[in-house]
Amino acid sequence: MVRMAVTGAAGRMGRMLIETIASTEGAVLTAAFERPGSSLIGADSGELAGLGKNGIVIAAQVEATLEQFDVLIDFTAPAATLANAAACAGVGRKMVVGTTGFTPQQEQQLLACGDQIALCKAANFSTGVNVALKLLEQAAATLGDDYDIEIYEAHHRHKVDAPSGTALAMGEAVARGVNRNLREVAVYGREGQTGARKRETIGFATVRGGDVVGDHTVMFMADGERVEITHKASSRMAFARGAVRAAVWLAQQDAGVYSMQDVLGL
Ligand code: NAD
Repeated sequence: MVRMAVTGAAGRMGRMLIETIASTEGAVLTAAFERPGSSLIGADSGELAGLGKNGIVIAAQVEATLEQFDVLIDFTAPAATLANAAACAGVGRKMVVGTTGFTPQQEQQLLACGDQIALCKAANFSTGVNVALKLLEQAAATLGDDYDIEIYEAHHRHKVDAPSGTALAMGEAVARGVNRNLREVAVYGREGQTGARKRETIGFATVRGGDVVGDHTVMFMADGERVEITHKASSRMAFARGAVRAAVWLAQQDAGVYSMQDVLGL
């Protein structure tokens, strides 16, 4: 039985993770955390997730209960995730990280914890998106430089970072396929006198509104034809199931940084 803790337990993903752990064989929820000062500290995490009481009360400090779990699942915010990673790395607790929006320095700091613990990080834990990432790299490598590549993403009105971590992961996948460095060729939105499109650029377009769980389309456009690879998430359950699957898998792994592609054996 893998003992799991969820931080950000009252969040959109946190509640879904608690529900998913409760229905996953081989997994048990043994701790739940929220931001210090949250009015939900002390609440029953099962009740909050709509499952009825489970006896796991939401606490404020990951550090205080590090010995109570094997793997921490963290879908919160970059600063919180970094603090949790430092605490977990200190005592060998494993981590599944779904938080997005890290700066390059924060990302580096997080991944360095992989020297001490097994850490699985993915911008998107859904199986479908990870298969799409594989297809995108292949499509880009085969279609090559004759096709203009553009990425569109849409999310609900509450999302705080843009473009989405998944759109950036898709950008990395196509950039690998055509041997380009995404940092050098990415264009994040266009306005005014932009001039004609530069062939090597990879453009991103972001839409925010309503309750869209996550839409992503990558377009490969040439004279006379267009290929589009699209993924649409209709429920956060797809991410939660993937993250809990990653946590079960991670329990058997040695220190290192892993992706959802590693979990799925892609
Ligand atoms: P949310 O705002 O609903 O939930 C975040 C929760 O984290 C909140 O309840 C907040 O109080 C809590 N939190 C903040 N600081 C904390 C701290 N120091 N300690 C404990 N809890 C803290 O957001 P959400 O929609 O659940 O998304 C959370 C993150 O997960 C975002 O970065 C989002 O982009 C990412 N996300 C990733 C995937 C994926 O598959 N990788 C999928 C969905 C969302």
